Amino acid sequence: MTDSATVPAMMGHSHALSGVVGWMAVVPLVQGTEFLGLSFHLGPGEIIAGSLVCAGAALLPDVDHKSATVTKTYGKATEILSDILSWAFGGHRMGTHSFFFAVLMGVVVQALALWSELAVQIFVFLLIGIALQGLGFGMDKNRTASGIINALGTAAITLTLYSVGVNYTWLGLAVAFGIVLHFFGDMITKMGVPIFWPFWKKRFGQGQGFATNGPVEQKVVTPLLTIGVIIGSIYLFDWPNILPDH
Ligand SMILES: [Zn+2]
Repeated sequence: MTDSATVPAMMGHSHALSGVVGWMAVVPLVQGTEFLGLSFHLGPGEIIAGSLVCAGAALLPDVDHKSATVTKTYGKATEILSDILSWAFGGHRMGTHSFFFAVLMGVVVQALALWSELAVQIFVFLLIGIALQGLGFGMDKNRTASGIINALGTAAITLTLYSVGVNYTWLGLAVAFGIVLHFFGDMITKMGVPIFWPFWKKRFGQGQGFATNGPVEQKVVTPLLTIGVIIGSIYLFDWPNILPDH
C-alpha cells in the first residue's frame, strides 16, 4: 500500500489547501492589473470562487490515478475519465503532471469560458465538488451521506457565487495555476514530476522533501496551509463592509 510508485503523492487535502492558499496569495499581486488581455478586479465573490476553483484544479493531475480523490469524486464518470486520461497522458505521474497539461487545460477552460456562460457554471460546479471532496467535507465512512452532503454544499456555493454575479474571465488561468501548484506539492513529497513532458521526461524533485502523509505533512504542512487560509481570509476581505451593521 505504501509503494511510492503507485500511491498518489501528497494527500488530497494538502493539494486542495495549497490551491486555496495559492489563489489568496496571488490576489494582491494581480489585483487591478491586466494580463493576457484580461483585467483583474477581484471582489469577495471572485476571491472565494477562485480559491475553490484553484483547490479543485490542484487535484486534477491525479486523475491519472485510480484511487485519487478526483477519480473517486463522480463515481463511474470520473473513473472512466481517469482511464482515458491516464492512457492518453502515458500513465501515473506522467503527462498530467506537466506544464503541457496545465497550459492545455487552461486554454480549453478559457475557451469554454468565452463560449458559454452555462458551460462555465457547470464546470465550476464540478470543480467545486472536487475541491470539497479534497478538503474533506462529508463523512468517509458513509459514502452515500458523504456524497449528498458534498452535492448540497457544492450546489449552495455555486448558486451563491452565481447570484452575486461572479465574473469568471480568469477561469482558465486559475485552473492552470492550480494544476501547477499540484506539481510543487508532489515535488516536496519526494515525488518526481516530469514537468517538461512529453519533450523531456526527466522527473524533477524525485527523492527530495518529506514523506507523503508523514509527520511533516500532518504536523507542519497541513497546519501551515490552514493558517495561510485564515490569514488570507482576514487580509483579503473588507470585513467591515461585508458584515451587516448592528
Ligand atoms: Zn500528483
